[in-house]
Amino acid sequence: MSEMQDYVDSVLARLEKENPEEKQFHNTVKKAFNTLVPVLEKNPKYKAEKILERFVEPERVVMFRVPWTDDNGELQINRGWRVQMNSAIGPYKGGLRFHPSVSVDILKFLAFEQTFKNALSGLPIGGGKGGSDFDPHGKSDKEVMRFCQSFMTELVRHIGPHTDVPAGDIGVGGREIGYLFGQYKRIRDAYDDAVLTGKGLNFGGSLARTEATGYGLLYFVKDMLDAHGYDIKGKTVVVSGSGNVATYAIEKAQEYGAKVVTCSDSNGYVYDTEGIDLDIVKDIKQVKRGRIKEYAERKSSAEYHEGCSGVWSVKCDIALPCATQGEISLESAKKLVANGVKAVGEGANMPSVIEAIDYFQKNGVWFAPAKAANAGGVSVSALEMSQNSERLSWTFEEVDKKLHDIMDNIYKNAAMNAKKYSDPDDLVAGANITGFLKVADAMIAQGWV
Ligand code: NDP
Repeated sequence: MSEMQDYVDSVLARLEKENPEEKQFHNTVKKAFNTLVPVLEKNPKYKAEKILERFVEPERVVMFRVPWTDDNGELQINRGWRVQMNSAIGPYKGGLRFHPSVSVDILKFLAFEQTFKNALSGLPIGGGKGGSDFDPHGKSDKEVMRFCQSFMTELVRHIGPHTDVPAGDIGVGGREIGYLFGQYKRIRDAYDDAVLTGKGLNFGGSLARTEATGYGLLYFVKDMLDAHGYDIKGKTVVVSGSGNVATYAIEKAQEYGAKVVTCSDSNGYVYDTEGIDLDIVKDIKQVKRGRIKEYAERKSSAEYHEGCSGVWSVKCDIALPCATQGEISLESAKKLVANGVKAVGEGANMPSVIEAIDYFQKNGVWFAPAKAANAGGVSVSALEMSQNSERLSWTFEEVDKKLHDIMDNIYKNAAMNAKKYSDPDDLVAGANITGFLKVADAMIAQGWV
């Protein structure tokens, strides 16, 4: 075994020993660091500067109590966190997630991924992630407002336009960002609009932010397919999720002439042989905040199936997981490959388990990893910060054009480093290496901090 593989293994062993409960974080770090061995071999300075040891230790983790009252006047208590992972290339930047599954383990793995992703975007943003185990489902607007106000009452001490700039993620959309911003402004008595991104358009939000992750995914996937001379037009696409990322991934895939046949939520999925009617999905999920099951009641060509994982047994050319982490198991990956899938593009964060990614790559499936393919959202968030600083708003077309250029560059750089250090089709390695080099060199330049 090489000296640098030993170095990686020793950092991983220490990480597991010091944080025995954080399995998702270990797995994510392991997958990323193993792809860096060729870079470490060519550049011994990273080992000498203990860059891997520093990469896995967040600069700061804040955990706090969030008390709020429900509509019956009863006191409820949730937990809040902010993981400030790495600020070598800019203020911490990453979403807030409100979901019962949120834990420090999940937030550390997401913040670690975010550090690479933000570096890949080419924009000056560091990595962070935060959230709460609060579940907004079934809560009234006023309950969500009171929760957000309480959450921000503590978070306000730790964020700022030059320190840490949160955004939305699962369970945190425009409504929640509005409430969070209102409370921040009230406490700080300052219109720091660049302190949160994903804001409403009438108070500093950017056009095309809503569409950015889904559109960006398709820009990246199309670059990957073009490189193999494979035309997306007319191809069958399976999408999971029906939230922000899924909706705009479906929209752009349809614009490119693909036929999207599924979407899902956490209860089940719909399969529409005629192709998904996005207006119906938007009406159910965005206007009525309903369940995807209702789609099949409104469209006769569609079937509804209980359970989410069945979506991966639908035959397709391209699969776009856009719901949540770990949604493609090894078993699901085997089904997709057996059904002839050519490409997988990750819209959600880490939706494929490590064994599934290995299986795709061993079976010649072109694989677009989340940290590169879904970087469109955070990229437009950074463009929102630029517009706030300039006190200007750019048109939809200007932002969309910049987004497209950013995604093209991410693809180009990941493909270049894949070719230089690994297998040319290994965009997982290519993306990790590109992000790592940028952050690691900035860390070295800033000394032992
Ligand atoms: P939303 O909350 O808008 O949508 C999430 C969707 O996934 C919903 O349809 C939800 O269904 C479904 N879902 C949630 N949990 C599960 C589960 N366990 N199994 C199956 N489906 C599930 O979130 P986003 O679309 O914003 O985010 C989706 C993913 O993309 C996340 O991994 C997020 O971290 C990632 N991401 C998001 C970005 C953004 O800009 N929004 C940027 C980069 C990454 P239900 O309605 O039942 O909850």
